[in-house]
Amino acid sequence: MTAQILDGKAVAEQVRKQVAEAVAARVAAGKPRPGLATVLVGDNPASQVYVSSKQKACAEVGIESFGHKLPATATQEEVESLVRSLNEDPRVNGILVQLPLPSHLIEEDVLKAISIEKDVDGFHPMNIGRLAQKGRDPLFIPCTPAGVMYLLEQTLPKLEGLNAVVLGRSNIVGMPVALLLVRANATVTICHSRTKDLPSVVRQADVLVAAVGKAEMVRGDWVKPGAVVVDVGINRVDDPSKPRGYRLVGDVAYDEVAQVASWITPVPGGVGPMTIAMLLQNTLRAAELADGKM
Ligand code: NDP
Repeated sequence: MTAQILDGKAVAEQVRKQVAEAVAARVAAGKPRPGLATVLVGDNPASQVYVSSKQKACAEVGIESFGHKLPATATQEEVESLVRSLNEDPRVNGILVQLPLPSHLIEEDVLKAISIEKDVDGFHPMNIGRLAQKGRDPLFIPCTPAGVMYLLEQTLPKLEGLNAVVLGRSNIVGMPVALLLVRANATVTICHSRTKDLPSVVRQADVLVAAVGKAEMVRGDWVKPGAVVVDVGINRVDDPSKPRGYRLVGDVAYDEVAQVASWITPVPGGVGPMTIAMLLQNTLRAAELADGKM
């Protein structure tokens, strides 16, 4: 079997187009443009790249972005006070605090300071708590997990009863993906660094989501024939043949697994573009929620 490609870049493009159309319709109807505030603390180069690509994506769909930068030495009070002022700013519908924060800051308290109506990253403890509870709905679903589910829906409209295995239990990817799969009535196994005999657990999966951050860890003979494989991992491996001296690979050994799976996401071009598309969608939703309050 040779897997079909779950093309995150193409799907994300459709989502961005839908958001751009909805923003244009809002503006034509005299409603304000959605606005996203980004908060970047410190000089982490990867974070700077992520924030600027989010701002660029906003501009492309007509969402206003308001960039805020604080030095790496910013105090807890300074960061939280900036967040509180953004909570009060009617031009700002969504607030994105770029993680990770410098280690002296208490991440949970910063995330808690974000008004849940503006929590477009979906990391406020109340949004995550609602995700975990039966019969409750979060206002926003974290962007990467939402992107994973959106991609799965392209090929598996019904996940009910399927065996899903999630590799990784982080707050930002593995755990919320697992919670979303449970909500979709899949039977979910969560694996982590202490899981015994990982290959045999992974082999049970009709749906496999890999989010461990280990280059090409999942091999072809770990995967059940016909499984749908979503690879969240983004890892650099040395490659002197590339101008940058490295290439990006996922957590899945793509060439091997593509021989076995029915669908597979590439890296790059799979989950990555979906994360930003979901952020845009969440920001539009935040603006729509704010309309109801005006
Ligand atoms: P974390 O490092 O926070 O979590 C990794 C998880 O994998 C942990 O739960 C850890 O287990 C588990 N793990 C680590 N090693 C193993 C192993 N050998 N066997 C089984 N489980 C293992 O990573 P993130 O969740 O933040 O990110 C995961 C990957 O996804 C990274 O490559 C990251 O770059 C990428 N990513 C991609 C995004 C995108 O937009 N495409 C967005 C966010 C992340 P334990 O809990 O026991 O330590």
